[in-house]
Amino acid sequence: MRNYSIFALAREALRGHRGWEQQWRSPEPKSRYDVIIIGGGGHGLGTAYYLAKEHGVRNIAVLEKGWLGGGNTGRNTTIIRSNYLYDESAALYDHAVKLWEGLAQELNYNVMYSPRGVMMLAHNVHDVQVFQRHIHANRLNGVDNEWLTPEEAKAYCPPLNIARNARYPVMGAALQRRGGTARHDAVAWGYARAASALGVDIIENCAVTGIRRGSNGAVEGVDTGRGFIAANKVGVVAAGHSSVLMEMAGVRMPLESYPLQALVSEPVKPVFPCVVMSNTVHAYISQSDKGELVIGAGTDQYTSYSQTGGLPVLTHTLDAICEMFPAFSRMRMLRSWGGIVDVTPDRSPILSKTPVAGLYVNCGWGTGGFKATPGSAHVFAHTIAQDAPHPINAPFNLERFRTGRLIDEAAAAAVAH
Ligand SMILES: Cc1cc2nc3c(=O)[nH]c(=O)nc-3n(C[C@H](O)[C@H](O)[C@H](O)COP(=O)(O)OP(=O)(O)OC[C@H]3O[C@@H](n4cnc5c(N)ncnc54)[C@H](O)[C@@H]3O)c2cc1C
Repeated sequence: MRNYSIFALAREALRGHRGWEQQWRSPEPKSRYDVIIIGGGGHGLGTAYYLAKEHGVRNIAVLEKGWLGGGNTGRNTTIIRSNYLYDESAALYDHAVKLWEGLAQELNYNVMYSPRGVMMLAHNVHDVQVFQRHIHANRLNGVDNEWLTPEEAKAYCPPLNIARNARYPVMGAALQRRGGTARHDAVAWGYARAASALGVDIIENCAVTGIRRGSNGAVEGVDTGRGFIAANKVGVVAAGHSSVLMEMAGVRMPLESYPLQALVSEPVKPVFPCVVMSNTVHAYISQSDKGELVIGAGTDQYTSYSQTGGLPVLTHTLDAICEMFPAFSRMRMLRSWGGIVDVTPDRSPILSKTPVAGLYVNCGWGTGGFKATPGSAHVFAHTIAQDAPHPINAPFNLERFRTGRLIDEAAAAAVAH
């Protein structure tokens, strides 16, 4: 694989950029692999990369029904943070933040990780108490988080309206300075390129239509649009469609799938220096490097596999954005889109072995799994390679919905971006 560097860029600039090679190979599927990963989003591609790099498994295929990053990886608003309440969550998400910090160097690919700070607004006394509890819990776990007064919040984010008579008055904010954003599709492409260079076969336009089990119940392989492919280990990493795939192996999942929407404005000069989230009104906003304001909305109230989402969700979000940032009320929106998110009862992910030997599942990230991409992929690769969870993902097992040992970030935050 060719190294990307300032020298390579200069050389190509002098010869009309004709020397760049394909970023990843597009081979025909083999009849058998050691491991098949279903889903070519960031989590699936990252899992394949760490399996090859850290566990020496080289005969791996990633099967993607569409194009790489065409699922939620390429549809999210890219917020990265690790200020979750419970110890288990802080360990998982902060593992990811630590990997984000060196990911561009690790992959030799600019994933544009930008730790510009994530500020979470408190609009009522309950929010103030909840966020201050988060700050104390985070600090005990070595995760940075600090309390800002409304004036300090405005100094950090000048467009913020802190008028006391606002519909959603700002009573303070929790700031995680190491939080921020990254370029989502570059994360998929960077992992794909690095995995392909280690021998992983990445096969796009290859939908899995069945998961076959042998007479002993263990996984034998998958049926696809391009025929049967054998493997004794299969990892399902299919976000909003995880329960559909697991059903193919006869496993019923504690998941509900909802459309979640986002939208961007027309591009403007840099006006917004950080990420601001309001859980209470469920709106969040940052500015992309292209200049668009990137705005995230909430989920629909009803489960669905339609990638459109309801209009009232968008109008409610824009109401809130205009109230909190009056300067943006005359901006035009450029486009909106939706993705299907897979939501667990406790709003924490599932990174787990399953009752079926050789079948592993990474799902349930709901509205907030992009931030976890490197950490999730890293520990899931360990789980598949060792047939046992990494200590960080051991609590995020499927069994917890039977035993009751939930990691209840739903009650802690009521939102999970
Ligand atoms: C609008 C929106 C905003 C979001 N904002 C944030 C945010 O700000 N921060 C954050 O942390 N998270 C956010 N998220 C959540 C985040 O995007 C996801 O949790 C994360 O990207 C999931 O990654 P993944 O690789 O598991 O899934 P995906 O990227 O969806 O990859 C799964 C892949 O599986 C493929 N697949 C499905 N069925 C099959 C099949 N039968 N055969 C083969 N392939 C199949 C799909 O095509 C897809 O490419 C947001 C999500 C949405 C929709």
